[in-house]
Amino acid sequence: MIHFVGAGPGAEDLITVRGETLLKRADVVVYAGSLVNPAHLARTKAGCDIHDSASMTLEQVMDVMIPAAKAGKTVVRLHTGDPSIYGAIREQMDWLDAQGIDYEVCPGVSSFCGAAAALRAEYTLPDVSQTVILSRMAGRTPVPERESIRSLAAHGSTMVLFLSSGMLGKLSAELIAGGYAPETPAAIVYKATWPDEKVIRTTVAGLEQAAKENGITKTALITVGGFLGDSYERSKLYDPSFTHGCREASR
Ligand code: SAH
Repeated sequence: MIHFVGAGPGAEDLITVRGETLLKRADVVVYAGSLVNPAHLARTKAGCDIHDSASMTLEQVMDVMIPAAKAGKTVVRLHTGDPSIYGAIREQMDWLDAQGIDYEVCPGVSSFCGAAAALRAEYTLPDVSQTVILSRMAGRTPVPERESIRSLAAHGSTMVLFLSSGMLGKLSAELIAGGYAPETPAAIVYKATWPDEKVIRTTVAGLEQAAKENGITKTALITVGGFLGDSYERSKLYDPSFTHGCREASR
C-alpha cells in the first residue's frame, strides 16, 4: 500500500497522528525535501529506505514506489502541508491507478492554516468576508485566464496566495487593478510554524518593499483582505439573542 501523507506546514508536531503512525510503519519514504521538515524522518524505523523527491522526476518516484508496493512494503509519499494543494498528487494517483496499485491519502495541515495561526487571525469574519480564495500568480505553471489575480481580486474576499513571493510587485499591481485599495491590509507569512517563522504586516501596495526589507523570496504565503483589519461584526453563533439548533436565545 502507498500512503500519500500531508506532513503539515513545518513544525514537526503538526503532522496528524495518523500520518505519524504511517511514518513509523513505513519501509520506504519518498519526501518532498524542498519543503518537508527533515525532522519528520527521525520518526522512521531503522533501515527505512528514504528518498528526497526534490531532485527526482515523476518517473523516478514511481520507480521507487511501485516495486516496493508490489513487494508488499508500506510506502509513504510525504508531501508538505496538505497534499491536495499544489501537491502534484493527481498525476501520481493516475499512474498508480493505471498500474492497479492501491493507495490512500492522509490529509495534513496546510500552510494556509499555519499562516492564520501565525497571524492569530480568522479568515472568515462576519461582515468582512465569508470566502477564502486560495490561488497563485502564474509562473512557469500557467493559471487559467478566468482565474487571474485581477479577476479573483474583484470579489474583495480574503485571499491567500501560494507560490508567488518572488513576484510581489506584479502581484500588488494585479490586486489593485482587480479592486483592492492600495492600503488594504496584507501580510507575508514566511515559514509558518517553523522555528524561523516571520510575520510581516503591510498593505497591498507595500508587499514588495516589505519582502525586500525582510529578505523574503520564497517559502511564504501572502494574505490579503479586511480580515487583517480591526472592524467586524460579532458572530450570530455565540450571540445571546440568537436561537439555533443547540441553544435558545437568552435575551
Ligand atoms: N501543499 C502545500 C503547498 C505546496 S506549494 C500546503 O498545503 O501548504 C508550496 C508553497 O506553499 C510555497 O511556495 C509557499 O507559498 C507555501 N508554503 C508551504 N509551506 C509554507 C510555510 N510553512 N509557510 C509559508 N508558506 C508555505
